[in-house]
Amino acid sequence: MSFSSDVKTELSAVQNAACCETQFSRAMLLFGRSCSRVSLSFLTEHPDAARRYADAVAHFSGTTPEITESESGNCKIQIEDRLVTDAVLAELERNRNEKKQLSIGKIDRECCRHAFLRGAFLSAGTVTNPDVEYHLEFSCPSAHLARDLIDLLSLCGVDAKSTARGGATIVYLKKSDAIAELLTAMGATENAMLFMGAKIFKDVRNTVNRRVNFDKANIARSAAAAGRQLRAIKSLRANGRFDELPAELRELAALRLENPESPTSELVELLGGTLTVSGVNHRFERIIRAAEFTELPDKKKEEGKA
Ligand SMILES: [Zn+2]
Repeated sequence: MSFSSDVKTELSAVQNAACCETQFSRAMLLFGRSCSRVSLSFLTEHPDAARRYADAVAHFSGTTPEITESESGNCKIQIEDRLVTDAVLAELERNRNEKKQLSIGKIDRECCRHAFLRGAFLSAGTVTNPDVEYHLEFSCPSAHLARDLIDLLSLCGVDAKSTARGGATIVYLKKSDAIAELLTAMGATENAMLFMGAKIFKDVRNTVNRRVNFDKANIARSAAAAGRQLRAIKSLRANGRFDELPAELRELAALRLENPESPTSELVELLGGTLTVSGVNHRFERIIRAAEFTELPDKKKEEGKA
């Protein structure tokens, strides 16, 4: 079962308070597949959501519609009985905007707003598994209902955006906090906790990965630097120039030869803390320059001296 389906199972089981029943039912009908006096229809892969839609129709019309199976194996409700559609639409048309379109209208109580969002989600919502990405959306039947929904979400403290896709207006959330907030508000508290748990796990894993990558990069840098230092020291020895180095450089070079893999910070400790890391690095730079000079052809050396 998908995360979205688990959320719908949890939301379908929430019992509405008496004051919330009407708003929940309005939302299920408004955000269904079609909602007009010609037909009311609903299509879902979720049997519990289909039952709640049938209850919503019954809430306004007194008639419980039949749930059938669509060709694709989903649950389908199709109502063309004018007695039923007229009864439902008479209720829904109580809330219309200035253009006479069906609208969400004003919902006074917070519990009823949350019930409305629960109904809208059961009809038109999906949420992606948080292990994959943070995405919750409502596929709205019209642009003006999408605007109403964004306003309602905003009233509940949840910021949403909208976009057009395939004839529908999609209202979506991308922020994990907002998704968790909405799941909780709608009544999917168990799945909201699973969602937050998945997010925390992902955040911790990312932090650990960043840390490990950072450490790996540091080790690689430090190994590359030690390699350059060892090559310079060995080159000076091979050319018989090692003993010409000042005593402090010879001391450091000897320490590096004894500790070929130690990071500079360890060499600082072995030197008794008399130098800083950058002081040690500076001495290594002098050794490397001396080796480079030794390796130059004699002609270039003369030019260098001049
Ligand atoms: Zn209520």
